[in-house]
Amino acid sequence: MKTIISKIDNRQLNNDVIKKAGNILQEGGLVAFPTETVYGLGADALNENAAKKIYAAKGRPSDNPLIIHITSMGALEKIVSHIPAAARIVAKKYWPGPLTMIFNKSGIVPYGTTGGLDTVAVRMPSHEIACAVIEAGGGYIAAPSANTSGRPSPTRAEHVEADLKGKIDMIVDGGPVEIGVESTILDMSLTPPMILRPGAVTKEMLEELLGEVAVDAALFDEDSKKAPKAPGMKYRHYAPKAKLCVVEGDEAAVVKEINRITDESMREGKKVGIIGTQETVGNYLNGVVKCIGTRQDEATIANHLYAVLREFDEENVDCILSEAFSESGIGDAVMNRLLKAAGYHIIQV
Ligand code: AMP
Ligand code: MG
Repeated sequence: MKTIISKIDNRQLNNDVIKKAGNILQEGGLVAFPTETVYGLGADALNENAAKKIYAAKGRPSDNPLIIHITSMGALEKIVSHIPAAARIVAKKYWPGPLTMIFNKSGIVPYGTTGGLDTVAVRMPSHEIACAVIEAGGGYIAAPSANTSGRPSPTRAEHVEADLKGKIDMIVDGGPVEIGVESTILDMSLTPPMILRPGAVTKEMLEELLGEVAVDAALFDEDSKKAPKAPGMKYRHYAPKAKLCVVEGDEAAVVKEINRITDESMREGKKVGIIGTQETVGNYLNGVVKCIGTRQDEATIANHLYAVLREFDEENVDCILSEAFSESGIGDAVMNRLLKAAGYHIIQV
């Protein structure tokens, strides 16, 4: 299949690129487009055959349900059986934005989109290009991250191209995304509402609105006997090719330990990648050192996480050593993704 790749910016949303993307979606094809979180791989969510193509292109397990992207509360009413009052409060504050909510689905949503579940995940993104593509495509667009399953999520069009060129109809290239980690998932079909995946809208932000908010226990414990409530969270997602290890502790001790392991591994003939921050990169003596952002602003770390993991894949390092990051604010989402990518391999110093 030939993949059309079209660049576009926010100031030219009424153009042929959006029209083309809309036509492809309405005909049951696949279009990747930027959102504020990561690039999404879009298909018409109400067309079971179109949704199935997403699973084939990504190599995604068929029990892993898709998030439906909409642009209005009117659209929400059509795809869910009931909107709880609490969900309206959350939507008012955080939609459009990096938050997905789970509801009981209505009859028009096919089981091919929800992985066989009676619930449906819905998000209203804020990214202007995403909104234009969703509307042109009919208003109900299933859009998981536009990567091959198991690879880091794409934060630039080039990442989508590397994974999916030749397998999808079109890539709308709107440049790098703003946030860089996937949306928070909040299950509104449970009481109290439960966070199934941390993201830019944090537990503290939701508690302020809703009072009590639960967190899926499977998120903290890799050995949990309970399966995570978001089926996708059970897979070893976000995995770089090299073995990744996270080193946690006092800053100076972490640098010392990473330098020690690097030297030891290099003596064994290994190529070592190091993930440091603006505050520390100057202190690493050997290895391939990358700066992921600054500890002064956790959002910079979220923004570069997946791109850095992909760069190490391209450079064929044998192992990657990463500093641990603060778990406050969006740091919670960063550490959730980083530890999953590391298979929960942590060294405490
Ligand atoms: P992605 O689109 O790649 O960000 O993945 C979507 C995530 O949402 C996966 O972890 C899914 O398991 C989760 N998800 C989608 N629909 C549901 C649902 N109805 N119930 C629970 N989790 C869901
Ligand atoms: Mg994904």
